[in-house]
Amino acid sequence: MIPVLPVVTPTLPPATHTNVYRVGRMVFDVASPYPEEQARTLDWVLSSPVVVDTIVLTHHHADHTGGADALRASLRARGVSARILAHREAVLPFPVDATLGDGDRLETGEGSLTALHTPGHANGHLVFLAENGDCIAGDLVAGIGTILIAPPEGHLETYLSSLRRMLPLARRLYPAHGPDLPGEETLLQYLAHRAMRTEQVRKALSALAAQGRPQDPHSVAERVYNGIPGVDLEMAALQVSAILNWLGERHVG
Ligand SMILES: [Zn+2]
Repeated sequence: MIPVLPVVTPTLPPATHTNVYRVGRMVFDVASPYPEEQARTLDWVLSSPVVVDTIVLTHHHADHTGGADALRASLRARGVSARILAHREAVLPFPVDATLGDGDRLETGEGSLTALHTPGHANGHLVFLAENGDCIAGDLVAGIGTILIAPPEGHLETYLSSLRRMLPLARRLYPAHGPDLPGEETLLQYLAHRAMRTEQVRKALSALAAQGRPQDPHSVAERVYNGIPGVDLEMAALQVSAILNWLGERHVG
């Protein structure tokens, strides 16, 4: 088990929290922009048996990075030369102390982790793989809710490649939202789920065409996601857009 502190963040429902993980001297996704949650994160970090001096970010989204700058400042105020690391493509509203790339090894003091570039949900998305197959997964998968692939940044084929890449590597996935998950089983489920949705989108396109109706993302989403409780049709239309782009690329390519 990797020590984890779920903190309240402005994330996408049904998730309400983002997991902050700690391995040795490193904390991952210091996520909350809320002062009381930042104070809780600082207490948790300071209670660590090892001095934490490195904040690592899986990707640039605000529900993963909202507390990073504040924690760095709080640690520095306590004499710790804390630094923030993120992928070179991660665009952040605060300075990063060093950038990471695919294959970079992080020495945590409790074993090494390898950074693996796994884009598709976000540019510059990284996961961190331990030698025993434990994987800090960011938004590659989720223990609650779903992973939004929202164009133009979200790209379905790239995301599917990232899922496939992790299939033989991740024994256990530690996502940013919800509980940890079995690696292979979860990744296969995600691949199957996206294939199912793609098939549903294909069928919806045919049905709309047969009726002479527009085949825009909203119309497709209304058919595909109709009757699924709690679905936000705006989000669903974004997911459909990613699938339509993907189908278009496959048709051309
Ligand atoms: Zn994200």
